[in-house]
Amino acid sequence: MNILELREIVYSAAGREILAGLSFRIKVGEVHALLGTNGTGKSTLAHMIMGCQGYHPATGEISFNGFPINDLKIHERARLGISMAWQEPARFEGLLVRDYLTLGKTIEKPESALRLVGMEPSRYLGRMVDRSLSGGERKRIELASVLALQPKLAILDEPDSGIDMLSTDDIIRVLDRLRSGGSAVLLITHRDEIAEAADQASQICGGRIVCTGKPAQVAAVFKSRKCISCDGEVCNNE
Ligand code: ADP
Ligand code: MG
Repeated sequence: MNILELREIVYSAAGREILAGLSFRIKVGEVHALLGTNGTGKSTLAHMIMGCQGYHPATGEISFNGFPINDLKIHERARLGISMAWQEPARFEGLLVRDYLTLGKTIEKPESALRLVGMEPSRYLGRMVDRSLSGGERKRIELASVLALQPKLAILDEPDSGIDMLSTDDIIRVLDRLRSGGSAVLLITHRDEIAEAADQASQICGGRIVCTGKPAQVAAVFKSRKCISCDGEVCNNE
């Protein structure tokens, strides 16, 4: 059973085709890593699955739990159980960490969600979610907010640039918790060691999925091709 299925998605922005007939599936409860160099369409895909404004596909279908969701807005998709860790929780400035971690129908306690991302609850629950937190702390709190929700599908898009803020161990711990809570995860990452903690992996190139299989296989293909330019070749090891 697929929790998420995208079929032949085409999406253009500013006169450029960014997703070029992309097809992709994630099974219920599966951690699925998405590998791809910069500019291949990873974040565009993440925003489209979440239903962010301006990311409606020109053609193609997105279904969640077997139902088409193309026309659902972001909050409707959130209600169905799709959740995304944003790079910055700044839009919620003015909230305490405790309030931020109990927004919506949360399942995991804020204390335990914070511990899972390596933060001591007594030091953070009473802090404001604002610029007084470091970039790394905000990123961890973002992840904690996804953990607190235990969504049916969690979208984790690592930043394209800048210093990676969570250790491999932290991410693997978070993935294990999401998996044991029954969440499926779309994990966008550059790091092989993290991709290898996934159940399945896909490589995106030129706005299409060019390879799907076990993480170690896909990571090896990704590295060997270096993906400097897309040869359009499709390998599928499912
Ligand atoms: P990735 O996350 O894989 O690095 P993105 O999905 O952010 O890639 O972007 C894919 C390509 O689409 C990039 O070349 C980017 O510049 C371009 N792009 C993304 N959004 C827009 C937009 N709104 N207008 C024009 N080009 C865009
Ligand atoms: Mg990106």
